[in-house]
Amino acid sequence: MEIKVAKFGGSSLANASQFRKVRNIVEADPTRRYIIPSAPGKRDKHDHKITDLLYKCHVLAQKGQPFTEVFALIKERYLTICTELGLSLDLQADLDEIEARIKAGASADYTASRGEFLNGKILAAYLGFAFVDAADVIFFDAEGRFNAVKTQTVLSRELARYPRAVIPGFYGSTAGGQIHTFTRGGSDITGAIIARGVNAALYENWTDVPGFLMADPRVVKNPKPIREVTYRELRELAYMGASVLHEEAIFPVREAKIPINIKNTNDPEAPGTLIVSDNGNYRPPGSITGIAGRKGFTIIAIEKTLMHSELGFGRKLLSVIEDHGISFEHMPSGIDTISLVIADNQLNPNKLDQVLADIDHVCKPDSIEVIKDIALIATVGLGMAYTPGIAAKLFTALAAGGVNVRMIDQGSSEINIIVGVENKDFEEAMRRIYNAFVPPETPSL
Ligand code: ASP
Repeated sequence: MEIKVAKFGGSSLANASQFRKVRNIVEADPTRRYIIPSAPGKRDKHDHKITDLLYKCHVLAQKGQPFTEVFALIKERYLTICTELGLSLDLQADLDEIEARIKAGASADYTASRGEFLNGKILAAYLGFAFVDAADVIFFDAEGRFNAVKTQTVLSRELARYPRAVIPGFYGSTAGGQIHTFTRGGSDITGAIIARGVNAALYENWTDVPGFLMADPRVVKNPKPIREVTYRELRELAYMGASVLHEEAIFPVREAKIPINIKNTNDPEAPGTLIVSDNGNYRPPGSITGIAGRKGFTIIAIEKTLMHSELGFGRKLLSVIEDHGISFEHMPSGIDTISLVIADNQLNPNKLDQVLADIDHVCKPDSIEVIKDIALIATVGLGMAYTPGIAAKLFTALAAGGVNVRMIDQGSSEINIIVGVENKDFEEAMRRIYNAFVPPETPSL
């Protein structure tokens, strides 16, 4: 039977009624055989995430201060979920042990991981699935790096023993048996690793949003969801700031060519967003997949007559910024000009002056111009750069909005066009591009 791995985020398991939705989803498809829960998230915007409360207990315990009150909130959340679901599961011994270990100086990772551990136990009991502790199947080395080889071997062997199991997200163990967590939001990564380990046909990632949107909803009103996106397109969009999924969660499944379906627990029938591998995908001509962008870049534009024939000019220039520990985002060039686009967080004011002085000294350009307060916008779509008319549409839309384009970079990738505009034009530019490619739906008569 084919296998689906389903990861449910914190808001999908925040209380008993969310657990009921999750059970309906799991029971609706018998191929959903391995389930990865996060810790309970916020029930409303004033609520606390269990993981945050656990970290708080750890901090208080480290300072020798009482944490009983905070721990009581955690206990109450879990016990209420169990009571409301009518479970006879007894968590008291686990809760007592966790409290005692935090008091005795347990690590931040152990403490935080208990959110997923307890939620996993509850979900396993509620679904009637086996509970497999992530500490027994997900491994890190002594430096805290994920040990893919050991994990893959043990995981596939262990899970083969259970036709259906719940494996808590977010953590695993080191060779010395210590609990170690991924970075925040890391249950996405656990889900991807398990999907790969059991060679799943699909990795479902259940959240509280309808999937990826074509643009940032804080900028573009009601952007359409993206139905299908390739891993490469997603990488471009994520780099520019679009996010739903933990970035590191992409790699294990991408390598194994397992598609990811982002789904909404509160609207399970909706298709969500399907992330697929890059081969053989088709997009209707003239369409794009999404738009993403970020403010806060500086362009250093360098001009020198006969630059193009000066051997080593680019190397000298790049060695200057490398010596300053700066990485650049883009480097568009002309015959006698070259520009570096650098994120502002790489350049504090003193550093910029130093870099300019060093470029002047090492490269001896005719002029250096600094253009500050630049935003970058990536318009992403498979094969769009080879579709006639896309660039014309994009730049016509920007011109119509009075947006001055300060930089264009299409690079060698055929999947995006990046434009640099002034920070103040960012929102207008995003909306203009979106509306050019996604015309408002005409109301049916
Ligand atoms: N509970 C952890 C966090 O809040 C991990 C996760 O939810 O993915 O970061």
